[in-house]
Amino acid sequence: MKKTTRREFFKTTFRAGAGIAVASVASPVVSWGKETESATLPAILGGSRSHAGGWPAWPVWKSPEFDGKLLEVMRSGVWSRAHNTDAFEARWAEMLGAKRCLSVVNGTNSLITALAQAGIGVGDEVITTPYTFVATVQAILMNGAIPVFADVDRETFQIDPVQIERKITKRTKAILPVHILGIPADMDRIMDIARRHGLIVIEDACQAHLASYGGKPVGTIGFAGCFSFQNSKNLPIGEGGAIVSDDDDFMDRCFSYHNLGFPYGSRAGSLSGAFMVGGKVRFSEYQAAIGLLELQDLERASALRWENGQYLTSKIAGIPGITPARLYPKTTRAVYHLFPFRYDKEQFCGMPRALFLRALEAEGVPCSSGYTPLQTQPFIRAAFESKLYRKVYPKSLLKYDAYLLKNSCPESDALCDEEAVWLTQNMLLAGHREMDEIAAAIEKVYSNAGRIMDASKKGEI
Ligand SMILES: *Cc1c(COP(=O)(O)O)cnc(C)c1O
Repeated sequence: MKKTTRREFFKTTFRAGAGIAVASVASPVVSWGKETESATLPAILGGSRSHAGGWPAWPVWKSPEFDGKLLEVMRSGVWSRAHNTDAFEARWAEMLGAKRCLSVVNGTNSLITALAQAGIGVGDEVITTPYTFVATVQAILMNGAIPVFADVDRETFQIDPVQIERKITKRTKAILPVHILGIPADMDRIMDIARRHGLIVIEDACQAHLASYGGKPVGTIGFAGCFSFQNSKNLPIGEGGAIVSDDDDFMDRCFSYHNLGFPYGSRAGSLSGAFMVGGKVRFSEYQAAIGLLELQDLERASALRWENGQYLTSKIAGIPGITPARLYPKTTRAVYHLFPFRYDKEQFCGMPRALFLRALEAEGVPCSSGYTPLQTQPFIRAAFESKLYRKVYPKSLLKYDAYLLKNSCPESDALCDEEAVWLTQNMLLAGHREMDEIAAAIEKVYSNAGRIMDASKKGEI
């Protein structure tokens, strides 16, 4: 990016300004202009920033308050799964109102484990959203199943139930809705489709800790729910994940699967030695200790994100070309792991999204364009070309070009390629003043879109 100093800017603007044919401006005029212009001029053109300070850091380690608990675990020498892990699982289940919780090494493995123990594998199709993190789809492939994409509703960013129903075949075994960005998917309609077609619902709630729908935390609505505690997530441990469900037999099997196939729960005692195939994806005690500490603030922070998210929505909804995500009516809390809105460049003098993002960044508002299309990334083809898939699936099903065509998702692609803008969850932990500043930044870019475009065309920015 070409940097323009403020002085350079004023030179060029005054030169370029319509009707201001004063190339040799007298200095008093310039300084008058500077004062008033600086506040209203976009920062990308040399004006002052809408938000001058920083943003709440993430993740948060409260030192010295947290230090003792972690050191206690380290000094104990018990680092593998033990009572801290049990306590973390009990606490997370309690906070969600779930009967059981099992921790695993990360969110990806929570999905792999849950799908496997829900009986999903080779020969099955799993319907999911294309607008998600790659792990959702990898988990389906890691179990030898075929991901089938149901396009999103662009207004909500979530999987569209109408599209789910269209994608059901005789191979469909499960629906894997993702509460993407921390916003609840339309669970009533998804559960209704699942009931009518005899499908299992596993919720990917990896971005949606304590989001709720109809008063029920997401992850507890379907048969099972999966969570991630990766560094950026609303409950951060660095790495970590969990499965929750009310089904004891399923949870016992998940436990065994995560612990080399050794019996657990109802099977413990009656069986000696490993009784099923399983890997080893256990949590560690220091992960659990960090998790227990981070959980202390999760309710407060989630409520704050929800409150600020709604406030920011109300502040920016009126700006032409800016459309915040619509929530389903039964949403009782979105936790905005990412705060999304759609950007329409036609309302911004044709300003490309990338330039809009740069202009917002210059205002002190970090932002991104979010996901790139997932269903066309090469990993699915790699699975289809693998030994396993070629052995077990009919050739017709593995024709990649035909698969891509059948799984095209124009709505999701539009979000990825043109419309989506994300802010990160930590920004929503600031105050109303900062939300006002975000809105002011967007408004400023909107009001000056023509000038920004002019400067861009001239190669000045
Ligand atoms: C983060 C994430 C995962 C995977 O979790 P990890 O802990 O990173 O393995 C899965 N699905 C979604 C939607 C995610 O955001």
